[in-house]
Amino acid sequence: MLLRPNYQKFAVEVRDSRIDGQGAFAAEAIPPRLKIGEIRGESIGVAEARIRATRSERIMIVEVSSRKAIDFSRSADPMRFTNHSCRPNARLCLRQGRVEFYALCAIASGEEITVDYGETHHEGRLACRCGAPGCRGAL
Ligand SMILES: [Zn+2]
Repeated sequence: MLLRPNYQKFAVEVRDSRIDGQGAFAAEAIPPRLKIGEIRGESIGVAEARIRATRSERIMIVEVSSRKAIDFSRSADPMRFTNHSCRPNARLCLRQGRVEFYALCAIASGEEITVDYGETHHEGRLACRCGAPGCRGAL
């Protein structure tokens, strides 16, 4: 068993995802509403974040306020691989420069953890492949 930081409340493993690239999968059952874990990364300004976002294919940046963003590219936290779904089983909560994840419903062991990204740097140009009924079709 891998050691995990105390802010990672439930075991999550990174595996290939049928949605996109790699994803974060529950490695144990997660009850509804509980905190799953969080990602911590490099705190940067929003201007710098937007420059970095144009340079990388796989964007791992979240804007946490109108001035601050966090770049997770070099983070080791498994939740950074969480994919978007139009019908997610978890939600993001931005708190004091950190990104926390909470279960929206019971998540079974082995299930992929997904969140609704909301607005992204892709501005609707990236096709959504979440496959959920009612998928918006784009990010
Ligand atoms: Zn979708």
